[in-house]
Amino acid sequence: GEAIPEELLEGLNPPQREAVEHRGPALLIVAGAGSGKTRVLTHRVAGLLATREAWPSQILAITFTNKAAAEMRERVERLIGEESRGMWISTFHSACVRILRREAEEFGFKQSFTIYDSGDVRALVKRLIKERGADIQGLTPGGVAARISKAKNELHDVDSWARTANLENPLDAAFLELWRAYDVELRRANAFDFDDLISQTVFLLRAFPHVAAQYRKRFRHILVDEYQDTNAAQYALIRELTQPVTRADLPDLRADLPGASLTVVGDSDQSIYAFRGADIRNITDFERDFAGARVIMLEQNYRSTQNILSAANAVIGNNFDRREKRLWTDSGDGEKIVGFTGYSGHDEAQFVADEIVELTSGGMAYSDIAVFYRTNAQTRALEEVLIRTAIPYRVIGGTKFYERAEIKDAMAYLITVANPADSLSLRRIMNVPKRGIGPATEAALQAFADERQITLRDAMRRVDEIALGPKVAAAIKDLAALLDEWSDRPEADPGEVLRELMSRSGYTDQLRRSPDPQDAARLENVEELIAVTREFRRQNPTGNLVDFLTETALVAAADELDDSGGQVSLMTLHTAKGLEFDAVFITGVEEDLLPHRISANEPGGPAEERRLFYVGITRARQRLHLSLAMTRAQFGEVNPAVPSRFLEEIPADLIDWRTAPVTVRQASSQRAVGRWRDEPRESFVTGYREPKALPKGPKREFANTITEVRDNSGMELAPGDRIRHKDFGEGRVQAITGADKKRVAEVLFDAAGRKRLLVKIAPIEKI
Ligand code: ATP
Ligand code: MG
Repeated sequence: GEAIPEELLEGLNPPQREAVEHRGPALLIVAGAGSGKTRVLTHRVAGLLATREAWPSQILAITFTNKAAAEMRERVERLIGEESRGMWISTFHSACVRILRREAEEFGFKQSFTIYDSGDVRALVKRLIKERGADIQGLTPGGVAARISKAKNELHDVDSWARTANLENPLDAAFLELWRAYDVELRRANAFDFDDLISQTVFLLRAFPHVAAQYRKRFRHILVDEYQDTNAAQYALIRELTQPVTRADLPDLRADLPGASLTVVGDSDQSIYAFRGADIRNITDFERDFAGARVIMLEQNYRSTQNILSAANAVIGNNFDRREKRLWTDSGDGEKIVGFTGYSGHDEAQFVADEIVELTSGGMAYSDIAVFYRTNAQTRALEEVLIRTAIPYRVIGGTKFYERAEIKDAMAYLITVANPADSLSLRRIMNVPKRGIGPATEAALQAFADERQITLRDAMRRVDEIALGPKVAAAIKDLAALLDEWSDRPEADPGEVLRELMSRSGYTDQLRRSPDPQDAARLENVEELIAVTREFRRQNPTGNLVDFLTETALVAAADELDDSGGQVSLMTLHTAKGLEFDAVFITGVEEDLLPHRISANEPGGPAEERRLFYVGITRARQRLHLSLAMTRAQFGEVNPAVPSRFLEEIPADLIDWRTAPVTVRQASSQRAVGRWRDEPRESFVTGYREPKALPKGPKREFANTITEVRDNSGMELAPGDRIRHKDFGEGRVQAITGADKKRVAEVLFDAAGRKRLLVKIAPIEKI
């Protein structure tokens, strides 16, 4: 090919450049966070196109989110100044859906198959458990769904799994029976679950060599970002796609072709999806698995300041069994990391808000700021304070738009139209809005369908053959006719289909006429969905209903990120992977949260939590804030919290611990209004609004800050004692647990009910 244009190489350091220029069967780029892995991948794709070494259609690039895919496509087009249609840049799931849709007919599926999300899967499993009376202890819908998912990610099918299982164990036997029934139901509904998308593609390629050969011939260059988080099924897919093509499989080939060239980039220190089957060995064994592989390491970090990097290096250095790598930067030390210990989650949230006010008044945009947390439950306090402080924000992955009942209804109408075999969706809308089709009628329809081995939808069409009342039969016929009308027009504009279905089914009318103010909001949501279809059509002028359903089924949390919005982004640490922000807040850096409680007993659990913390730290470009609270409200209880072990792993001189003077806190807590009833009031610092005006206190151990406010350490309390609480009034101590600083009293208050209080700081006195 031609030489790679200099514009594509300038601005790359020597190893990055080498990675872009390297040609050969396999290339592994292992490097720490922010070292330009994703950038190198992008430039590599652009280089292949610019030198005419590859047609766009010969490239398959796999990213972790749809948004990352869109960004990569845009950057490639900017670099080469041309459109790159025909190039597959997508997530594993999207790529597999495309293959499955093209090949569906080949193995007995309809091209319009439905993709079940985790909610659908659980609903189906729940029904199967109930139908079988398999209400065995230990078999929950969530548990069964997780087990099926895990097995599929390990590329098991029911039969191969059965051979490895101990079927004497009644729980395993019951599980197997449920899984078998579950797969039968999926096939009957012409549906795949998320894990099927990958595993079925692998099975398809293995079963049909001539199909596999076509894709092997097509994709000459396969590139995978975030390779450390691939699981067994994804690994197998890559193996399948990179096999050589032989004339035995594709007779019109002039000569055998070698396997595609494979480039993977990753960082084993950022592997955070082991709980979903991701296998770090995919990266550590790469050189053995792909013969002739070249390995390139990148060590210069272009994202973060040295202080942030030093903290990240120190933390991850505590994991064993890893390849030592030292990230460095020439961008200078930068600011110190800011640490803060609040009295409660709200206190911590107030700190976050105050810092954001300060950062933005210094010129930083809201969209350059992100707040991370380990669990979604932590958003409540953050949101309350951000709203009160009038800071615009967006919870990424938290809107759950597609999980709202009215959106699920509307989507079920669309799915039923696209895939008439999908009885799960059909059942959902059968009597929504109410048309007099009750459970007995539905059961009669289902029995008719089962007897004749036809679909529920077919049964509706043949309602005249079932003994039903004339009114109900007419309602069923009307619905079937409406659905059929649109099923017959698969190429119609999805927006038009949705609008027509919603109005002619009476769905929108029913919401409009309802006196319930909630229904007005539901109507707005349905209209929002219509707007989504309109936007989809604008971007895909020929996109049909199946395309639209595919796109909505595959949105991942990070896809919701909108940097144009001028909003602070709130997200979990898992969602933050691959992203970067000028300022980052990691909240809840406490034992039991980070590392999370559930990781404690998992092999490798704490190490994976440490990687998660490392991922969080390395998202920050300039400013990093680590915060925690001394008490944490969870599950309606306020419990004492302990600083995370990870904090001690960061050299003390990198962190500037902020503590606010006592006087201000006490004064402000007097003024506080009791908005959050289940938290002790001394945690409120609502009056604390001017961080700049506060003198910075001397650096001190965070665990000691609490003594400034109140110290009941010496209070001798025993079950049976009567106490008076500043807010909750009088009550009787029921039990004392813990010792010293962590002593907790469980108190039954006369008026306020049962509370757990941290004795040391609770505003209580003995009476
Ligand atoms: P992560 O492991 O977090 O996914 P990464 O290794 O993929 O990180 P990139 O996101 O590609 O890193 O790069 C991090 C930042 O550094 C980006 O803003 C990127 O544009 C910038 N960058 C990378 N290489 C260079 C370079 N040679 N010169 C200037 N900036 C660079
Ligand atoms: Mg990256």
